[in-house]
Amino acid sequence: MGHDSIDVQVAHIALVGYLKIKVLPMANNTYSLSFPSSKDKAFTFKYRQNDTLFSSAPVPSLFIQVKTVVKEMIYALGGMGVYHRFRNRQNLTVVMFHRVLPRSDIRAAGADPEWTMSTDTFRACLKFFKKHYCPISMEQLATAHVMKKELPACSLLITFDDGWADTSEYAQPILDELGLSALVFVAGSIINQTRPFWQESLYHLLSSQPDGLAKLQTLLAEHQVSISHDLKCAKDEEGIRTVIRQLGNCDHSRLNAIAQSLQLESDLPPSMLTTEQLKNLTVARHSVGSHGMSHQPLTTVKNPQQEVSEAKEILTEQLGSNASVNTMSFPHGAYNKDVANICWASGYEYLFSSDSLLNRMQNSNKKNRIWGRIHISERAITDMRGNFHPSMLATWLFSRPSGTLLTK
Ligand SMILES: [Zn+2]
Repeated sequence: MGHDSIDVQVAHIALVGYLKIKVLPMANNTYSLSFPSSKDKAFTFKYRQNDTLFSSAPVPSLFIQVKTVVKEMIYALGGMGVYHRFRNRQNLTVVMFHRVLPRSDIRAAGADPEWTMSTDTFRACLKFFKKHYCPISMEQLATAHVMKKELPACSLLITFDDGWADTSEYAQPILDELGLSALVFVAGSIINQTRPFWQESLYHLLSSQPDGLAKLQTLLAEHQVSISHDLKCAKDEEGIRTVIRQLGNCDHSRLNAIAQSLQLESDLPPSMLTTEQLKNLTVARHSVGSHGMSHQPLTTVKNPQQEVSEAKEILTEQLGSNASVNTMSFPHGAYNKDVANICWASGYEYLFSSDSLLNRMQNSNKKNRIWGRIHISERAITDMRGNFHPSMLATWLFSRPSGTLLTK
């Protein structure tokens, strides 16, 4: 290369499995990237480290920066879109969201970031879906299913889990504005509940209060809940999630009591959907499905049959007698053959998992089909400054494995 002061390193980046890109550092913080689009013609461009895209701290590693720029370029050139339109023509993509909160909302502070998206990123995602997919409603999916008709090419269904008030407060207005429908799965027991799930209350306590761990230890002792895991590991996000997972095996009524006592000390606005908000969703042509009753995994709960039947009853009662609640998503994504059979026998026709799979639409009328869904994490599609990059979402979403989930 002839630049004595610069170590010449060559990085190979594999993109969508086959494209090899060479990165060559050059003078003055510029990099020459070449990727062989054909044997005799290499496409090259220069990228300056101080370009506006990455101009302020925190600065991502050089490798990440270069990788991001390459992805952006291929996306901007339309390469990813062509790949997607060809590959996913006959796949139904079902995306899964949980919470949508603007950063300014007080409830965003203690919400688990893995399951929470800002309103700006959510809006950007919806625009991305409109550009690359044919978004459909649950009603359209059911009609195509019953009539044995094909879905439009690259169909996409938007779903929400749990029944958070923010689905109605923040996500719904953006969906309505962009003319999109969603399917909202609601846990029967949380309707009109002001406090969040006990899991979220504990996450809030441990992530945002310096004395959270000591407080939790006291509360666990008071309510006679003990776990084998060392609570001290709850220092970072992963540690907190591990402790919460462990607590999931303990008595849920005691955990709910702990969550309730925490809520008394906080003045957060209501966290879960009200009857009115639930009704408004269906008036605005969104669909409502079940997410179990207590939000416990159906694979471990004592009476799964009662869980799913009660949830169906309560949701039907809340929505009015004309409503038909025949869709369900498994709490925590947990299911097995027995759980699926119980759900079908209880009158649910469409069962959604959290298995990260695109649904192949050939042979789509199989009775024992479970639908795969793709979780979209805000951190996987935004840069370190929180800016959304469509190329990051495209890389994640377009290349998910595809198939047909069946139980026997
Ligand atoms: Zn859930």
